[in-house]
Amino acid sequence: MVRVRFAPSPTGPLHIGGVRTALYNYLFAKKHGGDFILRIEDTDRARFVPGAEEYILESLKWCGIEPNEGIGAPPLKEPIISKENALSYRQSERKGIYGPFAQQLINNGHAYYAFDTSEELEACRKKDSNFAYNSISRKNLNNSLVLTEAEVNQKISGGEPYVIRMKIPPGEEVKVNDLIRGEVVVNTLQMDDKVLFKSDGMPTYHLANVVDDFLMKITHVIRGEEWLPSAPLHVLLYRFLGWENLMPKFAHLPLLLKPEGNGKLSKRDGDRLGFPVFPLQWTDPDSKEVSSGYRENGYYPDAFINMLALLGWNPGTEQEIFSLEELAMVFSFEHIHKAGAKFNPEKAKWFNQQYLWTKSADDLAKEFLKIEPRINIFELDFIKKVCLLVKEKACFVSDFWELSHYIFIPPTGYDVEIIKKKWNETTNNFFVVLAENLKQPKGFQKNDIDQIIKQTAISQNIKPGEIMQLLRVLLTGKGSGVDLLGLMELLGNFEVCNRLVKGMEFVKEKTYIK
Ligand code: GLU
Repeated sequence: MVRVRFAPSPTGPLHIGGVRTALYNYLFAKKHGGDFILRIEDTDRARFVPGAEEYILESLKWCGIEPNEGIGAPPLKEPIISKENALSYRQSERKGIYGPFAQQLINNGHAYYAFDTSEELEACRKKDSNFAYNSISRKNLNNSLVLTEAEVNQKISGGEPYVIRMKIPPGEEVKVNDLIRGEVVVNTLQMDDKVLFKSDGMPTYHLANVVDDFLMKITHVIRGEEWLPSAPLHVLLYRFLGWENLMPKFAHLPLLLKPEGNGKLSKRDGDRLGFPVFPLQWTDPDSKEVSSGYRENGYYPDAFINMLALLGWNPGTEQEIFSLEELAMVFSFEHIHKAGAKFNPEKAKWFNQQYLWTKSADDLAKEFLKIEPRINIFELDFIKKVCLLVKEKACFVSDFWELSHYIFIPPTGYDVEIIKKKWNETTNNFFVVLAENLKQPKGFQKNDIDQIIKQTAISQNIKPGEIMQLLRVLLTGKGSGVDLLGLMELLGNFEVCNRLVKGMEFVKEKTYIK
């Protein structure tokens, strides 16, 4: 039975890289009919940010990748893990669980007490910028490997603050078998004696993460590549706690890179290039700074998820559009790239456009009305037709107004540069006759309109190419826009004639006729 977890720390808004990690966990669980667990890793109280956990839950909900176990999921009737462990999936609420494991490591000689104050450690770092608390330096520091048992007991019973550190054995090779990277080997001389338990009675990330993955029967740890350097330490922890043959499999996902490919994608890149790096808008509780979100920028969650899925993974075919269910069917680690994935803001918009095009006129009209309540004086049917006409050119419903305002409100200004360039006596005569011919047409479908324009052009000895842009300017004020014949059909012959007459009056007033 596959059991995976997404284990964010509530230290701020969830970055889109984090959403992708959650998504890959979700897809892997769904593909194998397994469990997707949400665990909140909040033992680092100094980095705790109020509202971050709620933000994470709301983001996953918006994306449609909700956990079936853990925080935000309904409680399980028959938990697979022990009842005690299933009581809370928030580490701060299960902090009593970790102490005995730290103690077990001490008892077995795999961990030790360290009493060095932060000032003392700071002084070490000042003396040697490469200072690390490791198998060499620990011999000269203030810890239970150096002190006598009596000294240690005295310090502890006297209430002196301490941490528990992992005792990394020197000169060993630790192998991490990664489902994406293959075998990664690290010599323990490159590892330091990480703190496992802190003086505030809280475990650190490393201990809590490994203990919980074990107790929660996690089968696969799927997380960002930034955790790969911690993996050897985790492997040693599994070994020293006696759980090595129950260790989960690891898969470290490639980083999301800046559009230029030079480094990890950050909020600054988003600000610089004008795209969000967070799924939802986020207001920093301290600075009150607001960061934009995909939801508020008009992205559809399924488009956002589809885009994220293909950042670092491919289905092995040319197909790009996938629903969440389809993704879950085809997802596998084999097609995850080893190299980082460059974020492409234009492609993100393209994905949204693909989803926008599949929406019904009714849905689009409702969304449009929500964004632009001033159009509610128009018939819903008319609004729907406008949506169908403009959607080809839009990536978001929020683009609709810019693309269609002249359909709702006749133009008051005209692109005079085009008029100056193209207007002459022949075109003038053409439009006079066209306005006349459009007054009582036999029909006013696109085809009919096309015929009328063509016949009028023949009668006036002018090529349709010479007048189409001017016609658009007279009707809309602008030199480019949506399908012109479609627009004319939608406006109807009465409105088209009115606009033509008004436009021609404008031209006459400005005496652009040479
Ligand atoms: N709490 C870690 C984070 O915030 C989890 C890393 C992991 O999945 O092991 O990313």
